Amino acid sequence: MKLHEYQAKEVFARFGIPTPRGRAVSSGPEAEAAAAELGRCVVKAQVHVGGRGKAGGVKLADSPAAAREAAESLLGKPLKGLIVKRVLVEEALPIAQEYYLAVIVDRHSKRPVMMASALGGVDIEEVAAATPEKIAKLVIDPAYGPWDFELRQLCVDAGFAPAVLRPIQAIAEKLYQVFTASDAMLAEINPLVVTADGRVIAADAKFDVDDNALYRQPAFAALKEESEEDPIEAEAHRQGLGAYVRLGGDIGILGNGAGLVMTTLDLVTRAGGKPANFLDVGGGASAEHVRKALSIVLMDPNVKGVLFNIFGGITRGDDVARGILEAVRTMDVRVPMVVRMAGTRAEEGLKLLEGSDLIPVANPSEAARQVIELSKR
Ligand code: GDP
Ligand code: MN
Repeated sequence: MKLHEYQAKEVFARFGIPTPRGRAVSSGPEAEAAAAELGRCVVKAQVHVGGRGKAGGVKLADSPAAAREAAESLLGKPLKGLIVKRVLVEEALPIAQEYYLAVIVDRHSKRPVMMASALGGVDIEEVAAATPEKIAKLVIDPAYGPWDFELRQLCVDAGFAPAVLRPIQAIAEKLYQVFTASDAMLAEINPLVVTADGRVIAADAKFDVDDNALYRQPAFAALKEESEEDPIEAEAHRQGLGAYVRLGGDIGILGNGAGLVMTTLDLVTRAGGKPANFLDVGGGASAEHVRKALSIVLMDPNVKGVLFNIFGGITRGDDVARGILEAVRTMDVRVPMVVRMAGTRAEEGLKLLEGSDLIPVANPSEAARQVIELSKR
């Protein structure tokens, strides 16, 4: 779950990381009032995308009127495809240097890794691609956390100016603390600004909390509703279908078992189609459960065909088939639906579907091919 910059900065500040003075607002007049308190300021769009600066989502404002104008030019409009509902109005910093500092969960080492570079700012991706040696890394043993000497070495390796090594080392320590205390997947400061008068301040903040830890992170769970995830994913989560992921294609997918659904995505892709979603409906065979899942899949207006892939295990194929039939009877489905079934009582299940709107197919590759073909009609 991603936090907005202003939320992330509140969390960072609570752990003692210096952040600029500022306020999140949702209207032009509020931005003007905030700027009147702050003086020269930056107005920053609060949406979950990177590279806002380059996309025109970060604006300098020299006066309260200019802040209002900047806010009104951003609010209610899309930035890289997401509607801006809030802007952060913040004191403008006299920037001397832009550094980079982040902690991530690294899959390769299976540990938290801290990354630091003196070449922070909007071009960090290019730095990472062209000159990866300019980004210093520290693999952290989660049992101990980073040692002081390791953090010091990281800051030296990053090429940070000697005068700011101490304050940055302190920030690095706090960044690791907030990262672990919050069950974060990512805690990033880019740029970490060194001002003309030698202060070090987090001018931007990215923070991503592990969804699987929200049960023990009530403060973040409360922000979840607000987080700008896909609206269909949000609805799926509200209905208890946490395993729905929108993928952007046009073939709706329902299956029982995460591995089976992953395989189904591969089959559809191999047959030349584009899956609209991932959805593991789980073990439940009840009509109510299937109806819920199917209606979530059909909420996506791009869906032009639906593929069920069912493996009968403890849940029997004929039970699932009855559930699907009953669910579909109460719904107005206007796209072709193909059902592939195997396992316990699969034959009986497929037989039940004969004569209905659902097209039973025994072979999975064939089922994928058929749903793609039918979706094109
Ligand atoms: P991002 O592009 O989404 O990562 O947004 P950032 O918050 O990192 O802003 C992008 C760039 O805007 C930064 O790298 C800075 O160069 C500039 N910027 C951000 N905040 C300030 C500020 O307070 N003062 C000034 N002068 N520039 C800023
Ligand atoms: Mn940034």
